[in-house]
Amino acid sequence: MSAVPTGPRLLLRRLREVMASDLPAQKRLDQIVRLIAANMVAEVCSIYIARGGEVLELFATEGLKKEAVHKTRLRFHEGLVGEIAATGEPLNLSDAQSHPKFVYREETGEEAFHSLLGVPILRAGRVVGVLVVQNKTRRHYTDDEAEALQTVAMVLAEVVGSGDLVAPREAAEATLERAATPSFEAVTFAEGVAIGKAVFHEPIIEITNHLATDTEYEKQRLEKALTELHNQIDQLISAEDIQRGGEHHEILDVYKMFAADEGWRLKIIDVIETGLTAEAAVERVQVDNRTRLMRTTDPYLRERLSDLDDLSNRLIRVLVGKPATAAAENLPDDAIVLARSMGPAELLDYDREKLRGVVLQDGSHTAHVTIVARALGIPLVGKVGSVLGRIEPGEEIIVDGENGWIYVSPSPEILQSYREMLEARTARAAEYAKLRDVPAETRDGVEVELMINAGLSIDLPHLETTGAAGIGLFRTEFQFMVGSQLPKQDAQVEFYGQVFDAARNRPVVFRTLDIGGDKPVPFMARDHEENPALGWRAMRVVLDRPALLRLQVRALLEAAQGRPLNLMFPMVTEVSEFKAGRAIIDKEVARRKALGRVLPETLRVGTMIEVPALLWQLDHLLPLTDFVSIGSNDLMQFLFAADRSNTHLAGRYDLLSPPALLALRHILDRARAHGVPVTLCGEMGGRTLEAMALIGLGLRRLSVAPAAIGPVKMMIRSLELGALTAFLDRIIQSSDHSLRNHLLVFARDHHVVL
Ligand code: PEP
Ligand code: MG
Repeated sequence: MSAVPTGPRLLLRRLREVMASDLPAQKRLDQIVRLIAANMVAEVCSIYIARGGEVLELFATEGLKKEAVHKTRLRFHEGLVGEIAATGEPLNLSDAQSHPKFVYREETGEEAFHSLLGVPILRAGRVVGVLVVQNKTRRHYTDDEAEALQTVAMVLAEVVGSGDLVAPREAAEATLERAATPSFEAVTFAEGVAIGKAVFHEPIIEITNHLATDTEYEKQRLEKALTELHNQIDQLISAEDIQRGGEHHEILDVYKMFAADEGWRLKIIDVIETGLTAEAAVERVQVDNRTRLMRTTDPYLRERLSDLDDLSNRLIRVLVGKPATAAAENLPDDAIVLARSMGPAELLDYDREKLRGVVLQDGSHTAHVTIVARALGIPLVGKVGSVLGRIEPGEEIIVDGENGWIYVSPSPEILQSYREMLEARTARAAEYAKLRDVPAETRDGVEVELMINAGLSIDLPHLETTGAAGIGLFRTEFQFMVGSQLPKQDAQVEFYGQVFDAARNRPVVFRTLDIGGDKPVPFMARDHEENPALGWRAMRVVLDRPALLRLQVRALLEAAQGRPLNLMFPMVTEVSEFKAGRAIIDKEVARRKALGRVLPETLRVGTMIEVPALLWQLDHLLPLTDFVSIGSNDLMQFLFAADRSNTHLAGRYDLLSPPALLALRHILDRARAHGVPVTLCGEMGGRTLEAMALIGLGLRRLSVAPAAIGPVKMMIRSLELGALTAFLDRIIQSSDHSLRNHLLVFARDHHVVL
């Protein structure tokens, strides 16, 4: 080869010449590996392409033995190449042979090479091959080299997609090979079960034109597309239902801010300068962003990176003239939407009549889209790895958001059993609806008050549909989590006012800001914390930044407009923290009084009990509080030292175990002695068997997810409480891992409806 081009730009120029030639595809691949090896000063460059049955075949190489071409085959997950294909992530190794996944293939003569840089060849989001360079020395490939190789891999996807190398059908099947059982484990983020047809949120956009002929023209296309993107977001913001629904507006404001980000725009322009088309450049920058997304564990950063991912998708669609997402297309009546990532605004774009469930490649408990899905009652599961690549549009999918599974093209037997389950649920829902206006009273005449947990404006109609006695926990932090900046005073007043209006005369307990830990807010920089759940969060934050609490209390007093106001603090750890919070409230009340503004008819101040240390301060704390509410989600994670969001620990310790129940009974006993009302507002109160045990321990007020009101009420109405109390007294002191089975037997023997 004559003059060796160097640098990505020159490499792309030479690639363009090869691509434009009328050589057969195999010859083009041979030339391409030579070009890349020379450009990157690598001794080896190889291209593996996916064939039917999740097998990767060596299609071209410079540097490995030529006789290995079309002979060496690796399965997905096998060897380093198989690992890159299976994970869809690059590998950059200075000593490849010491990697646990390294396998030696004699026919290639590979043992001489130490360092390896490999990237997936992605086509419309699916791995269709792997591109690798290798060197004899233990060298570190720079980030620039890794980026250049990814750019080349994008261009190569075009050659693979041409159908000249592997028949298109086989190429498609290569990544569609079914596992023996078509069920995949998933993490449940929003509970529920759904059956429906697969719809890809981002209808697969195939970029067919990667290499630009006129860089200036591509830059102009980018600018035009960015303007169009801004217009689209402005239109979304001004849409009528968003104007009305408080928090959606904030969510879109974040999008708007990102869309206008100069850093993002300049990065795309840089890539266009290397010779790619505008859409290919956006995709290229998006790939980097995704790699960062996969690696970061900071929930706040993940959320931001996934917002940026959404925006990139939107921008690519504008550039190739496609509708924004599947929400704008004809949906089947039972859509299960599958997405790599999805923003909350995008979820709200879907017709709620037709949307049955959501499967996210990734997802998290605290993502905004999860919060919205829960509020809408749509099952959402995630962390499904590469499963999305195995699903075809229109395929039948079961989302089991109770047990954390998805089924793809389920067998008739599985489908039938899930259909029966859904039918039974529908029938039960009708039964629950009939209970709306009857009291939650046990068979022996003890009444339990049932309230709902809420946090978004879309939660408010549930007050009417469930017939709940009020809102026992209003999570005010949601409004703060979804916006790009601290919600302004009047936005807070307006939002709280809506909550008061919706509640009419029913009580609402507003919890003051519970941020930090697993609840990141965008307007506060976060230091890295080794243990965020034990870190600077909730009450600790607002006592260190009292203006946050002061302004929130001011907004709540204003929104109350004379109506009764109930406030409670999260994560109080010692009595002095409660006193300090209370002092801030008292000061705000005094200020309002001095201004001659209307004061709430009554003001009650309470605290959550979520930190075990508080259990030994109850005799000091309770005389100061008007009420308390047990946050069992946090209390139990601290009691058992078991992270509530760690899926490996889910189910390891049982809340129906002696230590958990004894701790709860202690709180109930002390509260009774001090005459202080107690509620429990953690998730355990919404599960029927757990609710039964809690009532057996003496609890008389529960605040639960709206969907749990019906089942819990039905359980209560079938319960003979006297018998349960005596039974619990007998078993609570045991050393068993759990009392669950004893309680189940009790429920069965006493005909308690669970
Ligand atoms: C709890 O910890 O039980 C609780 C209700 O608060 P959150 O789930 O919002 O932390
Ligand atoms: Mg909590």
